[in-house]
Amino acid sequence: MIGSTGFLRVPSQNEQEQNATFVHETMSRMPSFTDSLDASNAAYVESFTAEGVPGRAGTHLLLLTCMDSRIVPHAIFGLKEGDMKVLRNAGGQMNSEVERDIVLASHLLDCHNIVIMPHTKCAMASLSLTEVRTKLTDLSGMDFSSFEPRMIDDWEGKLRADVASLKANALLKEGVQVRGARYDVDTGTVTWVC
Ligand SMILES: [Zn+2]
Repeated sequence: MIGSTGFLRVPSQNEQEQNATFVHETMSRMPSFTDSLDASNAAYVESFTAEGVPGRAGTHLLLLTCMDSRIVPHAIFGLKEGDMKVLRNAGGQMNSEVERDIVLASHLLDCHNIVIMPHTKCAMASLSLTEVRTKLTDLSGMDFSSFEPRMIDDWEGKLRADVASLKANALLKEGVQVRGARYDVDTGTVTWVC
């Protein structure tokens, strides 16, 4: 705020309170992003038919895939509520935490068929660590030089290694099948790799 002398003037207590009230009233009139979600959810609830569906996956399937918004896991395999467990992260990658969850699900939740499914055009597999750090710094102005996202150099090699790692886990329930596939975001096709 510039005063009559041209110097920066600190707003009075009264002005600060008026500004705060204005901002609060303006914000409260603005539609929140949850408003549209509520509307969509109300429609979903109207046609909801999955009451009482058991928590165990009906098809014994567990899918590990990327968080990419082009992947709609249940739709890809023609599944519905209660059919499949889904774990997601950036790249659809195995790590110790995910591996622990899958081991748990293999015993406790009867997940006998595990699919690890990265996808085409995945940002995690198309940028190098240096590129992604530079991009994040450019976007934010913050220092990302020691940020360690798990970028993928060779998607097929990584997928085969992830499948092999899970298969070799001594704690995985006996008889559990593990397969690796790749999803094509332009055609919807799932191609089995290993
Ligand atoms: Zn991805």
